[in-house]
Parts: sequence; structure tokens; C-alpha cells
Amino acid sequence: MSNAVLKANPPLLEKMKQHYKESITGQVPAGALFTAKTNGCTITAYKSGKVLFQGARAEQEAAKWPAEPAAPKTSSSKSINKKDSKGSSLFSPPPDISAMSVIGSDEVGTGDFFGPMTVAAAYASRENLLLLKELGVKDSKNLNDAQIIKIAKDLIKTIPYSLLILHNEKYNIMQASGMTQGKMKALLHNQAITKLQEKMAPEKPEAILIDQFAAPDIYFKHLRGRIFTKENTYFSTKAEGVHLAVAAASIIARYSFLKEFDKLSEKAGFTLTKGAGSKVDEAAARIIKKEGVQALKSYVKLHFANTEKAKALLNR
Ligand code: MN
Repeated sequence: MSNAVLKANPPLLEKMKQHYKESITGQVPAGALFTAKTNGCTITAYKSGKVLFQGARAEQEAAKWPAEPAAPKTSSSKSINKKDSKGSSLFSPPPDISAMSVIGSDEVGTGDFFGPMTVAAAYASRENLLLLKELGVKDSKNLNDAQIIKIAKDLIKTIPYSLLILHNEKYNIMQASGMTQGKMKALLHNQAITKLQEKMAPEKPEAILIDQFAAPDIYFKHLRGRIFTKENTYFSTKAEGVHLAVAAASIIARYSFLKEFDKLSEKAGFTLTKGAGSKVDEAAARIIKKEGVQALKSYVKLHFANTEKAKALLNR
């Protein structure tokens, strides 16, 4: 699958719209003027003047048009990032990443006292981007739990993904051994991405995009001695809004967290509370009272200050 990008001025855009009018589809992505499907090529023209040609005949189709100085193609766009002297922007996503075939990864549950940490990696190919949009994939912060569950159930049947659940017992053992939460995140993101790459082989993503939780050099330092990919790997905060693959990963991770959280509530015999506010202190105190302090390790992240607060509630 190849692609080409042209920069067109308004008169040329109008000319293209006329030329492709027979092939224009009803579906127009955000910011686009029109999308047309011809034999072997999908053409998407954006209001910005960018025109994207995707498909086997992309190069031939693009060559029909007298373009203004062409925008950099995906394969060479990385050079744009080299300007940063500290090197950190080497890992900033290229400007046209949103239209690429990408593995995205994200984690959920790191700030919740109760429940596991879940990490998912998901693959969104260029061909699947429109479909993902139709399934309702977007930044999960704009979705409620019911919507997340519904979309996730569709997603896991539709795209390749890999999901890891770090249950509380194991989390607490790792934490007690001196591992920071940042290192746990790095290990799990990397493991999810690596597993997904194996699952997808021989197909390869054009880029890997990690929802940034640490500076790239620290992320890679955590992975020393392990197998990981540095090539075409990018980091961005709020990456859910940068590529649908991260939004999809986030939805799958959230869905898994919700399921595990429900199981824990069932085990506790009452509905647990998310987050790390004072309500969770009371819930933890209730568990200690019922099952003993030893039981906590399979429900909570013990190193949170909430553990001591819960104990203090019982000592009053
Ligand atoms: Mn995140």
C-alpha cells in the first residue's frame, strides 16, 4: 500500500473536486473537503489544501496533478523532527501520523487505589481508520463507561490488539521489590507492543505511538536488557487525540479495567469506588474489617497513602 501527498491551492482543489465528482463518497473525515474512491486509489482532499492519495495506484493518481511544492511524504517526514538539539523531538510523531498504519498503546488504572493496571496495544491500519471512526472510537475521556464497553466489544473483534492485566497481588510484589510505577508502565507497554507485533507479523506498522507517561530516554532506560523497538517509535501526551490506534488501545484497556473492577466488587461483596479519594479509604477499611489486613493486597495498590488512611479509620 503506497501513498502520496500533494499541496493544492483552492482553484486546484475545485478542479480536483470536479474531476472526481463521479467517485465522491458520502463519508468525509474531519477537516476534509471530499473523499473519492477510484480504481486502486482513495483520494482525500483537506481544507488545508493537503490532498492524500492512498492505495496501490496512489503515485500514478497523484502524478496527474500539477502540485505546488509537495508536502513531505510519510517515508521522509521524520527529518522534520531532527531540529531539536536535545533529541527529544526525534520521538515526536510526524505531522501526518494520523493517516498512517499505527500501533498505539495506553494504560489505565494507575491512579486508582482499587483494581489492576491494564495496558493495551492496538493496531489501526490506514484501511481501518474510517471503520474505527464509525465504530465510535475517539478519546475515551469523552466516552462514558457504557459507551466504552459497547465500542470495546466491537473493537476486539475487529482489529489486532494485545492486552495485559497487572493484578493487584503481582503489582504489589513488583512495587515492594523497588520497582517504580513508571518502570512497570514501561515494561507493560513494551510487552503489549512486542506481543502485538508478533501477532501481526509479517505485517508491520508504519509507526508505533505510545501515550507518553515518561520522557522517551527514561522509557528506553527502563527497557534495558529487554527486546524493544526504537525505530519509528513516537511518544505524545494526549496521544488518544493524535491517532485512533491509541484511542482504541485506551478503550480496550479501560474496558478490561472496568471488568476487573466489577469482579473485585463482587469479591468484596459491595461496590468499590474508583480513584483515590476518601471514599476508597472507607471501602478499604470495610475490607480490612471483614477479611483482615492481609486481604488488602489482592484489592488495592498498597503503596498508595490510602492504605494507611484506611488503617487509621479503624483505629479511631
Ligand atoms: Mn495514557
